[in-house]
Amino acid sequence: MTKGKLYIVGIGPGYEEHMTPRAKKCIEESEVIIGYSTYIALVQHLIKDKEIHEYSMTQEVERANQAIEFAESGKTISLVSSGDAGIYGMAGLVYEVLADRGWKRENGIYVEIVPGVSALNSCSALIGSPLMTDFAVVSMSDLLVPWDIIMQRVDAAAKGDYVIVIYNPQSKKRIHQLRDTKDLLLKYREPSTPVAIVKAAYRDAQKIIMTDLEHVLEHTDSLGMLSTVIIGNSSTFMHDGLMINPRGYKSKYTLVK
Ligand code: SAH
Repeated sequence: MTKGKLYIVGIGPGYEEHMTPRAKKCIEESEVIIGYSTYIALVQHLIKDKEIHEYSMTQEVERANQAIEFAESGKTISLVSSGDAGIYGMAGLVYEVLADRGWKRENGIYVEIVPGVSALNSCSALIGSPLMTDFAVVSMSDLLVPWDIIMQRVDAAAKGDYVIVIYNPQSKKRIHQLRDTKDLLLKYREPSTPVAIVKAAYRDAQKIIMTDLEHVLEHTDSLGMLSTVIIGNSSTFMHDGLMINPRGYKSKYTLVK
């Protein structure tokens, strides 16, 4: 029997022009589409005639196995993730399940990870150039990682003067994260350090808040599941509402002659 294909597709932030042509092509080629309901909704217009399996949070392991089994039966499947599937997406879980099932590239199903524009790319593009030099990315979701480990990572990033990108900053059940993060960062950074909150980048509900470390907690009401928070480092500055991290040319060149 011919083995099928499993595409693990990052669809970008939500707006179709930010989806790669490869992502679109893989979705179009697939007979079966699997993904969270919100991601399915974002690609709705591309998948009208396809077999669709939506799932909710907590069903990830089941869906990863289902996707693999569809591919083993000869079908072409797209498992869709928002942003990039390799960044807090389904790519890791699928490879873990495949490894446990004894899958080998040589004779197993064809697996392709299709890279997408991650929230860190889309959110930073909307607010200036905050990620121009070294940055660290931390997810505040403590469903799978204990909170003290997350705080250790934030502490290390703060010590290293990294710009910090925070995914999953808040959910309905967890609201302490940003408060703990602010308290920790204030040990290392100025209260005036620029902070951006980007909600639903490139989607209809897009909202951008530019603030600073001292005032960040005033905006937690507008946070929620779909926001990314970017915290500047000691070189970050604001200009005309944009958060700018210098690339370093000023130490060698005069920028305006
Ligand atoms: N694989 C995704 C991340 C999934 S984790 C990616 O690469 O972008 C979910 C988190 O991603 C959200 O809590 C939020 O922090 C971030 N996120 C995803 N899409 C976003 C968007 N359109 N705008 C802002 N943040 C987003």
